[in-house]
Amino acid sequence: MKVLKFGGTSVGSSKNINNVISILENYAKKDRVVCVVSAVGGITDKLLLAGKQAQNKDTTYIDTFNLIKDIHFNIINELNFDKSSSIIAFIDEKLNALKSLLDGIFLINELSPKTSDKLVSFGELLSSYIIAETMKNRGLSSDCKNSQELIVTNSNFTKAEVDYTVTNKNLQTYFNTALQQITILPGFIAKSKIGEQTTLGRGGSDFTAAIVAAALKVEQLEIWTDVSGMFTTNPKLVKQAYPIEKISYQEAMELSHFGAKVLYPPTVQPVLDLNIPIHIKNTLEPEAAGTVISNEETRSSSPVKGISNIGNIALITLQGSGMIGIPGFSKRLFETLSQEKINVILITQASSEHSICLGIDENDAELAQTAIDATFENEIALHKIDPIIVEKDLSIIALVGDNMKNHQGISGKMFSSLGKNNINIRAIAQGASEKNISAVILQSDVKKALNTLHEQFFETKTKQLNIFITGVGNVGEKLVEQIKQQRKYLKENLKINLRIAGLSNSRKMIFSEEGIDLSNWKEQLENGEQATLDGFFENTKTLNLRNSIFVDVTANKDVAGLYEKYLRQSIGVVACNKIACSSDYENYKLLKRLSLKYNAPYLFETNVGAGLPIIDTLSNLIASGDKITSIHAVLSGSLNFVFNNFNDTTKFYDVVKQAAAEGYTEPDPRIDLSGVDVARKILILARESGVEMNLENIENTPFLSDSGMKSDSVDDFYQTLIKDEAHYQGLYASAKAKDCQLKYVAQFNDGKASVSLQEIPNDHPFYNLKGKDNIVMFYTQRYPEQPMIIKGAGAGADVTASGLFADIIRIGND
Ligand code: ADP
Ligand code: ASP
Ligand code: MG
Repeated sequence: MKVLKFGGTSVGSSKNINNVISILENYAKKDRVVCVVSAVGGITDKLLLAGKQAQNKDTTYIDTFNLIKDIHFNIINELNFDKSSSIIAFIDEKLNALKSLLDGIFLINELSPKTSDKLVSFGELLSSYIIAETMKNRGLSSDCKNSQELIVTNSNFTKAEVDYTVTNKNLQTYFNTALQQITILPGFIAKSKIGEQTTLGRGGSDFTAAIVAAALKVEQLEIWTDVSGMFTTNPKLVKQAYPIEKISYQEAMELSHFGAKVLYPPTVQPVLDLNIPIHIKNTLEPEAAGTVISNEETRSSSPVKGISNIGNIALITLQGSGMIGIPGFSKRLFETLSQEKINVILITQASSEHSICLGIDENDAELAQTAIDATFENEIALHKIDPIIVEKDLSIIALVGDNMKNHQGISGKMFSSLGKNNINIRAIAQGASEKNISAVILQSDVKKALNTLHEQFFETKTKQLNIFITGVGNVGEKLVEQIKQQRKYLKENLKINLRIAGLSNSRKMIFSEEGIDLSNWKEQLENGEQATLDGFFENTKTLNLRNSIFVDVTANKDVAGLYEKYLRQSIGVVACNKIACSSDYENYKLLKRLSLKYNAPYLFETNVGAGLPIIDTLSNLIASGDKITSIHAVLSGSLNFVFNNFNDTTKFYDVVKQAAAEGYTEPDPRIDLSGVDVARKILILARESGVEMNLENIENTPFLSDSGMKSDSVDDFYQTLIKDEAHYQGLYASAKAKDCQLKYVAQFNDGKASVSLQEIPNDHPFYNLKGKDNIVMFYTQRYPEQPMIIKGAGAGADVTASGLFADIIRIGND
């Protein structure tokens, strides 16, 4: 004898019913088969909805009824029954009875648990009959037996308890004499000793199958559903989840108790003692291996077997100094909840015994609050206990594994990876058996938390980074293209799964939780929604993806103003925009502090020397205990380009225009030519060396003409370059006369910094600096005479983009 159970999706369409029948037909060739079925997918919910509507005098219950009717008749039509077939008459009769019951509820305005059970029973009665008739119609030896005549319970409606002595006897007697090869049983439904219709709890068809399997002492119970087994976590929320091959009864029970809906928690009980394995299989993919639940010892690479979650949790906190040392306090609390039939899902008690926290179903919260407040009325009045606190919109996440107890540091890993992703933990409980660690978090963080933990415990090999890029001009575009090109390499070689989840220019923005398809990103962006800076932030925050990084590829002050908000959400920031780092010292410090506090990296290597590893080198020197004594540098790729190309045969205006066209200047070239850009860079290096300094502390000797300094638009500025050509030729001539090169030099010495155009003699390391190159010389305690020198291209879209990319990878490797 074999016992199989098919769930709501498995019997939810004619196509799936045909799948079920072919599976049964195959099994029936070798053995007798008992098949337990659920209601057609979604019908139990609809029956309850119709009941609620009728109870509330809402006539739309008739629409809901008609929908239920249509769903069943559609399936019957597709199964090709003869119009005169007895099945039509039977279904009609059942639906009429259902309609009368709903009309009755509507009339009396009342829906008791007893009536509710009667109401939902229609779901399984209809589905089991349809399947059995279809099989008979196809000449198979099959019959439907109403399990209400076999499974006997108490009168605890909506979640009745089984009387195993009577039930086992009924089942054994029936199957001893039943003649058909395949028996279809409706799951979930039963009757009380005095003949009232009862149910075994939502999801209870699994349980029916286990009761039958145990009563008949079969060798294996098969639960056929719509996924290929019990997964490492809910596959609807975590794409990377995968089926667990083997799992123990205890682990399966813990996972299902904490929300893995694929198995109704009590299902394990009846089969556990008899050692009957449960095999979970997929009706839609029958070849897939599925999961075997048994008491066989299982080994796996991770001590964590699975992660599950239950939503709609309310947390009840009872606290007060009067609780300390009072015996019987907990007893009264739990008695109160038990009297109200409130199920406690999670308990934590502070070691001071000064507070106790309970996780319960959110729907029970009001009832619990009233009841507990009543029980402790006196203590509350005497201020020994505070009135209870109820928090809602919470969820429990749980790590489960028999082997967790033998491994140190699992909870540490769990909480640090949640913390890194800014997931606030409201309460923690560890099962006494150490088979589970559970935490209460905000409902809105569940998806991120499950993905984070899954990555931590099941995908240690790859780390997903979710990038949100603002600014896709010259540099931004190059960055996107570089990412597109390198994605595969990063995955294969660095185990980084890099995805762009948000993109924006000044007009449009797009987002994708799965990562934007980069094959036609420009087109998608053009058709995106209207961009705003706050809108971009809000979307990034709402997507709530793990390892999120905001990348600022603008030179915009308002964008820089938002870093604080990103960091406070534990979203990392990578910027080539130097405004924030060179803003007021307090702001620079604040961002650094937030980065530490929220565990969100803030990297800005490209602020100085584009892609050259200047800031990283400096931080490594400092971190390893070195001290910077002075810095000499040419830090403006644009100014270097300008003075390398400007001479008595070229025009200053033309050279500056060319630098702008090649993308070597800031969008506003005055920022470069006035020296402000270089001043910002040396300021950043000074600050990174540990000195408190502001932009106004930097001595800036301008080389621009007066009118150039005073121009108030970019166009005006260009005009002054034409007009003041003689001034610039004068600078060139003076240098040439001394056989010197003009270089724009930044210096940091003795806590002071300056920037100025200098005439560099031919024996100086700066003399031969070509094109748009930068050079930095760090004199430190460890490099007192021969400085540490970093030299190379210090401007250009490609190298700046690769500098940003390097910062992103730095975060990925962390
Ligand atoms: P059935 O109607 O077949 O009883 P259920 O909807 O009750 O199916 O259970 C299957 C569903 O359980 C899956 O579709 C999936 O969404 C959900 N689920 C939640 N957690 C898990 C998990 N860890 N493994 C597999 N499925 C899970
Ligand atoms: N049909 C019932 C429910 O939806 C029982 C089940 O599907 O297992 O809860
Ligand atoms: Mg189910």
